[in-house]
Amino acid sequence: MPKHIASGLKYLAAVKLREQGYFQKDIAEKLGMDRSTVSHYLNGRNLSWSSIEVAEAVTGCCNRDFLYMTYSLTGNIDNTRTIVGILIEDEFQAKVKDSCIGCGVCVDACLMNNIAIKDLKCNIDTADCCGCLECQLNCPTNSIQVLEVENFNK
Ligand code: SF4
Ligand code: SF4
Repeated sequence: MPKHIASGLKYLAAVKLREQGYFQKDIAEKLGMDRSTVSHYLNGRNLSWSSIEVAEAVTGCCNRDFLYMTYSLTGNIDNTRTIVGILIEDEFQAKVKDSCIGCGVCVDACLMNNIAIKDLKCNIDTADCCGCLECQLNCPTNSIQVLEVENFNK
C-alpha cells in the first residue's frame, strides 16, 4: 500500500505540473518517472482512486506531517523534496536572530536542505522552504522564526 500512496502523490504532483503548463517530458524528468507512466497517470490509468484519495488526505495534513509522511512513503529524499515542493504552494520567510551560535542543529533538522552555516551563523534559503518548522523547533537558542510570507511583516 505505501507504494500505491506514493504513486498517488506523484499523480497529484504530475497533475499540478500539467496545470502549470509543463510538458510530459519535463514532468517525467522532475518526478523521476518514465514518460509513458506520466502519460498513463495524466489519462487516469494505472492508478486506483483509493490511492489518490489517501494521497490527497496526506497533502491535507500540516506541512510537517505531509513532509515526513511523504518521505516515509517514497523512501527517497530527492523525490520527497520534489513532491513536497510542488504540492505546497505557500511561501515562507525566515528570521535568524543574533543569538544563533552556529551549532548546525538546524542544518541537520531541515529535510528540504535549505540551511547552511555561513560565518558561524545559520543562513536559511527559503526558496524551497515547506514551512515544516523543524529548524525552529530544534534550535537550542530559539533563534529561528519561520512564517508564511503574508504574515512575515505583521
Ligand atoms: S540551531 Fe539555532 S543556534 Fe544552531 S545554528 Fe541553527 S539557528 Fe543557530
Ligand atoms: S521550516 Fe526550516 S526545517 Fe522546514 S523546510 Fe523551512 S527551513 Fe527547512
